[in-house]
Amino acid sequence: MGFTPFMLLPPFAYRNQNLFVEDCDLEAIARREGTPLYVYSKQAILSRYHAYEAGFGSFPHQICYAVKANSNLSILRLLAQAGAGFDIVSGGELYRVLQAGGNPAKVVFSGVGKTREEIEYALESGIHSFNCESEAELSLLSSIAARLNKVARIALRVNPHVDAATHPYISTGLRDHKFGIDITAVEAVYQRALTLPHLQLEGVSAHIGSQLLDTQPLLAALDALLALITRLRAAGVPITHLDIGGGLGVPYREGQVEPVVSDHLAAVCARCAGLGLILLTEPGRSIVGPAGVLLTRVLYRKKTETKEFVIVDAAMNDLIRPSLYEAHHEIVPLRRAFPGTFVADVVGPVCESGDFFARDRDMAQCLPGDFLALVTAGAYGFVLASNYNTRPRAAEVLVDGAHWRVVRRRETYEDLVRGE
Ligand SMILES: *Cc1c(COP(=O)(O)O)cnc(C)c1O
Repeated sequence: MGFTPFMLLPPFAYRNQNLFVEDCDLEAIARREGTPLYVYSKQAILSRYHAYEAGFGSFPHQICYAVKANSNLSILRLLAQAGAGFDIVSGGELYRVLQAGGNPAKVVFSGVGKTREEIEYALESGIHSFNCESEAELSLLSSIAARLNKVARIALRVNPHVDAATHPYISTGLRDHKFGIDITAVEAVYQRALTLPHLQLEGVSAHIGSQLLDTQPLLAALDALLALITRLRAAGVPITHLDIGGGLGVPYREGQVEPVVSDHLAAVCARCAGLGLILLTEPGRSIVGPAGVLLTRVLYRKKTETKEFVIVDAAMNDLIRPSLYEAHHEIVPLRRAFPGTFVADVVGPVCESGDFFARDRDMAQCLPGDFLALVTAGAYGFVLASNYNTRPRAAEVLVDGAHWRVVRRRETYEDLVRGE
């Protein structure tokens, strides 16, 4: 009836007029738990993770899920139990991984600004390796490892000068970016690192950006890294692992086609065949993005001379991607009650003109009290939520078949002032 929304990826699908995820009716969950509410599918997360596992096949590898994409403990636990390692960018993320039962020996630590305390915590916890991003970080790591009498396994994060052709805020592999060590300078850094005590230099890593729908830049970066590895080995640097980063994109709007993980990994493994390398990858968005939705309720419809607004109870503090990156999220009704569409801006209650989810969007008919889903909101959604306007952060629900449970309760007003 009426509105046919853009492709919903399974396990999200309408059954008759109601939007389901797996065997759960999303509106029933929204009524029970309130909105705004993040809902994730266990089946989607695991099948996306297994696509990576299957893509590597027998090639020696470790998948290190990028915790920053969605760091809910229940999701980390799910992935840890499936065998995942983790890519962390802070001590807090390491704490979460350990709380969730993750294996520290499968953790890689990325990021340009690791603090002394974070490095100590990671060394004491016995993580797999550090993706180092500067010479200053290398010396600090060496001195801390010496003091703790540990050996820090190291990969240098290389900036390969490859344009990821994605949004400028999530592109990281160009000369001007703060990330990594310039590929033209990195060989000298490896040589100096070899002279530092308590470091075991064993890897090359790169991460050129996020939301890549075209894998060509990733393969171009890989070619540059493999050439680098050949030169490093010839110069006596014993490289044994290559971390190809994350970054595969997901479809957010009609017409976007998701890269096929198995095709991409087949191309990667083919290039790396016979080199004796262990491959690491750090996918975030492509594991959890399409596995989650943000549910919201329509509060008001409001017409001005020039526009119509749908005012909903979720806002930029719950999902900032549209405001921050002008990101697109499809918005679909949880119940297809009415035929026809109308054009509106979908906005939240926060006192900022930037608080919008959609502009001039073709919307399914809806009335105050109706529920909507912002689709593909599982990655960089809740993790970027804030308490701006003193709004409690949303609850999170994990669906498993016909069952679901709250994996993070909604914040209360008391939560909001705790610590002040
Ligand atoms: C953010 C990040 C990732 C994950 O990127 P996705 O696009 O979510 O796959 C992987 N590695 C590093 C170093 C990152 O900063």
